[in-house]
Amino acid sequence: MSLSLADVLAARRRMAGVAVHTPLVPSPFLSARCGQNFLLKLENTQPIGAFKLRGAVNAVFGLPAEANGVTCCSTGNHGRGVAYAARARGLRAVVCMSSLVPRAKVDGIRALGAEVRIAGRSQDDAHAESRRLAKEEGLVEISPFDDPLVIAGQGSIGLELMEDRPDLAAILVPLSGGGLAAGVALAAKAIRPDIRVFGISMDRGAAMHEAMRAGRPVEVEEVPSLADSLGGGIGMDNRLSFPICRDHLAGVVLVTEEEIYRAMQALYFEDRLVAEGASVVGAAALLAGKLPAFSGPVATIVTGRNVDMAAFTDVVCGRDIQLGDYLVKGSAYGS
Ligand SMILES: *Cc1c(COP(=O)(O)O)cnc(C)c1O
Repeated sequence: MSLSLADVLAARRRMAGVAVHTPLVPSPFLSARCGQNFLLKLENTQPIGAFKLRGAVNAVFGLPAEANGVTCCSTGNHGRGVAYAARARGLRAVVCMSSLVPRAKVDGIRALGAEVRIAGRSQDDAHAESRRLAKEEGLVEISPFDDPLVIAGQGSIGLELMEDRPDLAAILVPLSGGGLAAGVALAAKAIRPDIRVFGISMDRGAAMHEAMRAGRPVEVEEVPSLADSLGGGIGMDNRLSFPICRDHLAGVVLVTEEEIYRAMQALYFEDRLVAEGASVVGAAALLAGKLPAFSGPVATIVTGRNVDMAAFTDVVCGRDIQLGDYLVKGSAYGS
């Protein structure tokens, strides 16, 4: 199984009219910190509020006519994308999620007409449930990251970035299961082999980072995080996203919960954006001084806006956030 730019181009044709070619806007505040033009790719403006619509549409619209329904496991946004795409095709969708998934994401999926199953306390538990449904109810399972059509769909972001700013020196990609980073790296490097694509993860439970260090998929413990969309493993039987990330990423940078907290505040107060924790990790890495120097413009992907608004309000107001038994000490922005 190999993926190429042709698969990404095909994905883009298939998603036309459903997923949006999103804006790429400069952030004056982050540009000043970077010393280079720093751009935000606003995937929060997709119809479901997150980029995952791209891969989901490509996978669901790519199914044969006789498919009688789809299932998936999800940290929230993939389920939303699959639900949206399945509704557009008139297919049944069952989304399996763990109890760690925030309420706002669960409600958003139900509102799109999908059935929701809450299974266990980790992505692995949710995955086991979607696999069972696929087997017992004849639904087609769509992986959030380890599926060629999903990766090609997410790769359309890399295509748009290179079309809009062919002079980019680097792309900072929020990294969990690696479908997004694999697709973006594949597309961008097919067009500009010298561009550097970095994955950014939270420092607690960074599954792809651990796998790249070990040279094979490894189990990680999933813990509550401000970047809830980045939780979960990459699958011990990973076929695609792991080798592509391993071969194409320039490196992986890890950020702390405190750095994610401050970046959520910065994007809100400086760029007026409501962005979920997973989508600010690129800005967090920059603000924390964890990135190398760049020789040209840099873009990061603001991957989604589907944050629990009560928790988001706590962050922008500088309140403490309790994540399981981990406390993120709050402080007002700029103090
Ligand atoms: C899924 C998701 C990611 C990570 O994508 P992967 O393909 O799993 O690496 C990042 N941000 C948001 C908002 C997501 O929903």
